[in-house]
Amino acid sequence: MPAPSLAIIQSDVPAWQRMLSDLVTDPQELLELLGLDHDDNPFSSAAATQFPFKLPRWFLSRIKPGDWNDPILRQLWPASQEEAEVAGYGFDPLQESQFNPVSGLLHKYSSRVLLTASPHCAVHCRYCFRRHFDYAANAPSREHWRAVFDYIANEPRVGEVILSGGDPLALPNRQLDWLIEQIEAIPHVNTLRIHTRMTTVLPQRIDEALCARLKTTRLSVVLVSHCNHAQELSPESKSAFQQLRNSGVTLLNQSVILTNVNDNVEILADLSRKLFEQGVLPYYLHLPDAVAGTAHFDVELPLAQSLVAELQTRLPGYLVPRLVREEAGEYSKTRYA
Ligand SMILES: *Cc1c(COP(=O)(O)O)cnc(C)c1O
Ligand code: SF4
Repeated sequence: MPAPSLAIIQSDVPAWQRMLSDLVTDPQELLELLGLDHDDNPFSSAAATQFPFKLPRWFLSRIKPGDWNDPILRQLWPASQEEAEVAGYGFDPLQESQFNPVSGLLHKYSSRVLLTASPHCAVHCRYCFRRHFDYAANAPSREHWRAVFDYIANEPRVGEVILSGGDPLALPNRQLDWLIEQIEAIPHVNTLRIHTRMTTVLPQRIDEALCARLKTTRLSVVLVSHCNHAQELSPESKSAFQQLRNSGVTLLNQSVILTNVNDNVEILADLSRKLFEQGVLPYYLHLPDAVAGTAHFDVELPLAQSLVAELQTRLPGYLVPRLVREEAGEYSKTRYA
């Protein structure tokens, strides 16, 4: 009887993992689901081939049907503007490949290293600065991971290890466990940081096993969520953040300032307030990087600076994100407000 045994196998797979593979990958299907007409905003098949369209079906519930200006749709839609070749926009503007001493590890800033722990994300954000990153070459096997942890063990200045990606929380718990164990074994590392978009795009990912692991580690844990608009927040994200807080995790958020998504003082103020309601403090507001295919999202520096100056007059200081850009060759992010 194949059906019952299949049910048993499926019940071993955490619910979030099933949700993570329940995706909309065809832009045409998205249009039908949202009641939108392709001719009004054609998608680029070239762009969607280079960096595929991808959206967990659960997250669809946050998008307003019938609205091309929806701030979440704008972040995910492979628009024809992505094909524009714009001078100054390249494939590796941050020259990350120079700071890649070992496959899977970026060491740019002295006290912390960033691991490209997962080649996968739940969603594909069209403005992503790593959309051209060679994840295949940076998806280490266990042997490669040895080299990564040996590198960190030999760098006593490194006190913090950042799991990034891709999205590190796209990894199953047992792989994360293993990574955390390797990090815990390096005596001079005291902080684990997780950069993730899961807390809003698939908050069910924050399951009990993950929280239990983060609660018992000897490391201080910081989770930096990535959310650009208050509409991405949900009762489910609130519950995920609550469970993380109960596990002793410090919660911060980073956003990217994006044209026609959040380049507006009301929207940014609303984002900060609603993040705070969910127990999260704003950390960075990133100016977009000059990555090929993303020029249509760009916000000019003076506009971004004036928005943050205005935010400062409306919000307590702790709800104002730091406006930053990553400049190749600098020893930290560059702050502009
Ligand atoms: C952004 C970034 C970090 C973290 O920088 P913080 O200012 O500590 O948030 C670390 N490593 C790399 C490669 C980065 O891009
Ligand atoms: S989740 Fe992060 S890494 Fe993944 S596509 Fe979005 S911005 Fe890029």
